[in-house]
Amino acid sequence: ILIITFFIFWIIALILSYVLTRISMFPIIKSWKQQSEFVNDAAHELRTPLTIIQGKLEYMLTKPHKTIIDEAESISVSLDEVNRLNSLTNNLLILARSDQATTKMDYKITTPEFFLKDPIMPFKEIINSQNKVFQVNIHHKNDVKLNVDRDKIKQVLIILLDNATKYTPENGTIRIYDYIDGSKYQIIVSDTGIGISDTDKKKIFGRFYRVDKSRNHNSGGHGLGLAIAQQIINNHHGKIFVRSNLPTGSEFIFELPIKH
Ligand code: ADP
Repeated sequence: ILIITFFIFWIIALILSYVLTRISMFPIIKSWKQQSEFVNDAAHELRTPLTIIQGKLEYMLTKPHKTIIDEAESISVSLDEVNRLNSLTNNLLILARSDQATTKMDYKITTPEFFLKDPIMPFKEIINSQNKVFQVNIHHKNDVKLNVDRDKIKQVLIILLDNATKYTPENGTIRIYDYIDGSKYQIIVSDTGIGISDTDKKKIFGRFYRVDKSRNHNSGGHGLGLAIAQQIINNHHGKIFVRSNLPTGSEFIFELPIKH
């Protein structure tokens, strides 16, 4: 009897643990796992520039008689890394705030021209800062009403334009155009850059994901831009995705519900 009772209890415990894991515990465990992966990746990204700055400062301390001009290279490298840390912490804050839904969204009924006109100015600065020449075409034909936070949508456009310039060789073409698909308004940012493989297409919206990590350290990316863009578009009940043909370029599309 003792053995049978023990066996029954064991079976019940097994079933219970299986059900708990599948139904209620699974999302919790998954989110713990995601959170710890996120913290791990963030710490790793913070450590790289910190290690470089620490190395440069320690080196400068071993040469106390040198002037600032002698140490210009070390100072400039350290400053670049401080700038990287700054942009990383800003991006981490944006993501953390939108996760907690504490970001105040400033929704307003607007037409697309409000966020399509403005990003071109910072975009020109981006192009100039990279000393690249691009042909930029903007086709904006659909006049619809949207209920959006204009600044946030501008931020999405800037992320996509920044990427288009980063991953497109000189003399490429970047186009921005719009399209109506039923009750959805789409904005498309297309480039003639390096393209994205089918496997990477599924991963690039993930936090800290970069196709080529070594190259991207130099181009300044942390793999957070598209994650932020996705978070903003999700908050607008929209969708963001990519169409890409290796190696002829990429098309990033984001769609927003049309306000009737
Ligand atoms: P990053 O700061 O590294 O650009 P993102 O989250 O914006 O981070 O993009 C993630 C990765 O997706 C990039 O590292 C790059 O490998 C790839 N990617 C993004 N945009 C493009 C593009 N227009 N063309 C080719 N690859 C791209």
